[in-house]
Amino acid sequence: MTERYSRQVFYRHIGEEGQRKICNSHVAIIGLGAVGSVVANHLARAGVGRITLFDPDYVRTIDLQHNLLFSKEDVQKGRLKVVAAKQSLNMINSTIRIKGNESKLSIETLLHETDDVSILVVGNTNPEVISVCNEFCFLKNIPLVFGGIIDGKGRQMSIFPGETPCLNCVLQKYKWIDLKQNDFLTSDLIGSYQAMDVIKFLVEKNAVIRKQILTMDPLNNIHEEMLIHELQERCAVCASKQG
Ligand SMILES: [Zn+2]
Repeated sequence: MTERYSRQVFYRHIGEEGQRKICNSHVAIIGLGAVGSVVANHLARAGVGRITLFDPDYVRTIDLQHNLLFSKEDVQKGRLKVVAAKQSLNMINSTIRIKGNESKLSIETLLHETDDVSILVVGNTNPEVISVCNEFCFLKNIPLVFGGIIDGKGRQMSIFPGETPCLNCVLQKYKWIDLKQNDFLTSDLIGSYQAMDVIKFLVEKNAVIRKQILTMDPLNNIHEEMLIHELQERCAVCASKQG
């Protein structure tokens, strides 16, 4: 194992075998906003062997305030977020394979590009995108690690087909208010929690991963957890896999 990962290899929860699993894994990240970029950064540094990025947007000046992967040059050169992110992540770690996809997200695209993916990370709060990701994860029976700012608070949760309600059901309880503001520090925290869940799952499939909805609002000193199982809603996507 290379010097790059030696601290993870010495870390008793990962070790040499765990690092090998991380290096041999494929993770997809949907959305390269403030949250998705934090996850991508951590996973690239941790050595996730293949990362597939999905985002149809171009880098804008406004992104530079909160997005850790992009630069002024990306705006000036009119780069797509997936192109700029791939370049930025490969500067951090050139030993991993990164692929970007800017097409409109659909089940077909996900099946084509990420058929062998172990886990799906969602950092996008668009209901249509969430619905596609939700359906894909239940179809493939893989976890979905969600994070985003909803109702002005950071929310993070990991969905497990057959164990938890799906993301559509969980998010039904929230109002979707676009506040046109960005609490980028909370986004960093949420993205880090997502990256932690991904690494834990890649190293040990039966790892103890929180089955709660984590709500964070550091500005008001709020850090709450609510059991996902307490939600009674079950839609057509998750009802058939209910454990
Ligand atoms: Zn559902």
